[in-house]
Amino acid sequence: MTTPETAPGRIATGQSTARAQRCLFCGAEYPLYPPIVAGCPNCEREGFKAPLEIVYDYPESGDWLPDSPLPGLTRYAPLLPPLADNLSMGEGGTPLVQHPPHLVDGDFELYIKDESRNPTWSHKDRLNLCVVSAALAVGAPGMVAASSGNHGAAAAAYAARAGLHAVILCTPRPPAVASFLQAYGQTVVAVPDVLTRWTLMQRIIDELGYHPASNFTTPPTNHPFGSEGYKTIAYEIYLQLGRRAPEAVFIPVSYAELTFGVFKGFKELKQYGFIPEIPHIIGCEPAVGAPLKRAIAEGQPVVHVDAGPSDAYAIAVPVNSYRGVVAIRESEGLVLAITEEEMKAAQAELGRAGMWGEISSVISFAAAKQAKSLGLGKKGPLVCVHTSSGFKDIHVGETPIPLIDGSWDAFQELMAARQ
Ligand SMILES: *Cc1c(COP(=O)(O)O)cnc(C)c1O
Ligand SMILES: [Zn+2]
Repeated sequence: MTTPETAPGRIATGQSTARAQRCLFCGAEYPLYPPIVAGCPNCEREGFKAPLEIVYDYPESGDWLPDSPLPGLTRYAPLLPPLADNLSMGEGGTPLVQHPPHLVDGDFELYIKDESRNPTWSHKDRLNLCVVSAALAVGAPGMVAASSGNHGAAAAAYAARAGLHAVILCTPRPPAVASFLQAYGQTVVAVPDVLTRWTLMQRIIDELGYHPASNFTTPPTNHPFGSEGYKTIAYEIYLQLGRRAPEAVFIPVSYAELTFGVFKGFKELKQYGFIPEIPHIIGCEPAVGAPLKRAIAEGQPVVHVDAGPSDAYAIAVPVNSYRGVVAIRESEGLVLAITEEEMKAAQAELGRAGMWGEISSVISFAAAKQAKSLGLGKKGPLVCVHTSSGFKDIHVGETPIPLIDGSWDAFQELMAARQ
């Protein structure tokens, strides 16, 4: 039974030590609320849109870190933005699965952090717990998000649980993803052009007072509370490795909220003396665009590129986020551009090892193929963040299962074709 006291919507501010929002570019600080999603006002005066993060009055002792990585992010409440009571659906606590050693090309330990086992089958649940909590905290009448899939579904689901109306602006989707987005009783509408989508989103924010739950600016700035939820992936990896840090973490990159969040989580673990060094963050981008790779190479905060078509629709973008630059630079990491063929091969290979991943997700496993040549894995284990399950891909359902009449002859014919 839900009592008024436990209904989603009560913000358990008491447990969080979040103090303010801070610009990643100029360092200017702002009060914790309202969340500044469209970029730092101070940098805006210089003509640059910069993302913000949350700063904390960190507890002195490391007691906030639990002993075991169980699901439910409220366990990490002191180091997260204020979370709404009873909103968690047991997100996080996902398995860290060791890739079979005989299938690893090199002399190192390789692990897959399987985020496909979240409530809506992607890491985006961790972000939306924080973002929907923010929408409730400011008393927004609804939420609006522009998303091609996973973020939209997670936003719809968490808003639904909170009793908030959500408008999800997507692009036309494969049938499985369309049903997935529509499953949560929210308003889902397709607007193919990205810029038109963002203009409409701005209008919904202005006219209806809806809370922005995704990016809607160029360059991207994103919701400052979102990445904070991803810090918990770093905490869990540390605990799951038996209180060790990996040497490097391979992460699929779009606007780098995930990349930055995982980096920041490890940075905090270092700050508390749990680990000696921040692992190298290896950003993985589809080769058709790869703006973060170019931004790092050119020493620019943000670059625009011509991005060709990619099956990795969840992550292929023509502009990078400054968040990614910070994570790569401060972790002494790097960015790898991965081709469509490499992603497809990685998807098949991971499938043969028992895991079905979305193309955008298996890019991290594809990138880890380069570990040996990059000399990685000698100082510690390597981890690939596997963000989402394969059922969301563009080509899902296109290959029919061979149909036979059930006779032994027909079966033998099929078996012969397998060799
Ligand atoms: C959103 C998404 C990512 C990347 O997340 P960013 O934080 O935007 O970089 C990676 N993989 C999948 C499957 C996603 O949906
Ligand atoms: Zn700024």
